[in-house]
Amino acid sequence: MDLVGSQEVKKVVNSVLDVIRRQIVEGEITEIDAPQIIKMIKEKCESEQRPSLQSVINGTGVVLHTNLGRSLLSPEIKEYLNRIMFSYSNLEYDLQAKKRGLRYHHVEKILRELTGAEDVLVVNNNAAAVMLVLDTLVPNKEVIVSRGELVEIGGSFRVPEIITKGGGSLHEVGTTNKTHLKDYQDAINENTGAILKVHTSNYRIVGFTEKPDPVELQKLAHAAGVPMINDLGSGLFIDLSKYGLPKEPLIQEAVATSDLVTFSGDKLLGGPQAGIIAGKRSLIEKIKHNQLLRALRVDKMTLAALEATLLLYRNPAQAARKIPTLRMITMSFDELKERANDLAAKLESIPGLSVQMGSGESQVGGGSFPGYRIPTALVYLTLPTSCSPTKFEQLLRTGEPPIVARLEHDQLIFDVRTLQGGDVTKIYHRISSLMK
Ligand SMILES: *Cc1c(COP(=O)(O)O)cnc(C)c1O
Repeated sequence: MDLVGSQEVKKVVNSVLDVIRRQIVEGEITEIDAPQIIKMIKEKCESEQRPSLQSVINGTGVVLHTNLGRSLLSPEIKEYLNRIMFSYSNLEYDLQAKKRGLRYHHVEKILRELTGAEDVLVVNNNAAAVMLVLDTLVPNKEVIVSRGELVEIGGSFRVPEIITKGGGSLHEVGTTNKTHLKDYQDAINENTGAILKVHTSNYRIVGFTEKPDPVELQKLAHAAGVPMINDLGSGLFIDLSKYGLPKEPLIQEAVATSDLVTFSGDKLLGGPQAGIIAGKRSLIEKIKHNQLLRALRVDKMTLAALEATLLLYRNPAQAARKIPTLRMITMSFDELKERANDLAAKLESIPGLSVQMGSGESQVGGGSFPGYRIPTALVYLTLPTSCSPTKFEQLLRTGEPPIVARLEHDQLIFDVRTLQGGDVTKIYHRISSLMK
């Protein structure tokens, strides 16, 4: 109760008394139970004090669940973050030179090493990175984009609008399924500002398709004296095809064939929300002088989490194990089955529940690996007929801790891929207390 001020307590007391008065008027209660009223006041004070942002158990199997916060940071970096968050740091101070330093400096070395780029810059998110790049390099110029790559990302971020917002104009080329090098070539004129390639990260065009070799496209851009910009969206450093996933473009590959590459810190990279721009030093230098950068700059929490996550990539095998996003995507079916067994065994011990195990498919989510499903292990719960599945799902979702699961054909389904350490026990306790 210490955390709540007296004005707040007064408000809570009045609201609880209002409820009781109404209940008396409506004949719902006939006696005043003082200890019960005090308990209600206490509980209300506590619940008002609880932050709105809560930790949630993700039983959906969607790894990069945008609604549930996308990437989880690696527990490996916890201690380091704790140290940086709660103390002064050399954020903008060069300790060696005893003079002002740059916040961007901290992630430069590791990012250059991992991407192979001459220079890098980190901003608030990838949407900001794309906007900043276009705003700096192509105001009042034409940006050439293939019709197959006019992407809309969630939250109304659309490539055509972003280009015009930056003061540029869109020059569409090719068709939805096929765009040739010649289409780009024919579009180049004295007002061309850049060629923009956008990774179709959240959809796939399959069948009769074609797009030019990125090396050729970059050559074309250079012959025209304009930069080749590549919005990758998701930042993948490790080839996941060795884990059976489809081949997705790697950051290193994109950097080798583009002048500037932009990608997110919290999609496949598995770090905090951030936007990373990697590429030619001369272009990044221009971007660093854009006034907008100040508005899009990242906080020390982001920089600390990003640097620590990136350092895990020094050892790629370690990164696949220690970065939760990569670990969940590459988890073996045997491990998933073992986890499902564990959850099913616990839930079976609850009277009245019927539990089955099965296999199904998880999605990576977050607009990556579109259309691709990873085989996974599921636990199906069938409730007693006296229990409404819809109501049960709602109670699970709105309780403490909130548990988000799938509800299909009156069965609750847990995809164990996205469960974290300790979640199995928490799910068991919540469900057994709901069944009482
Ligand atoms: C996700 C994505 C973005 C936006 O990135 P945020 O980090 O969510 O701002 C931009 N472009 C592409 C191609 C994307 O996939």
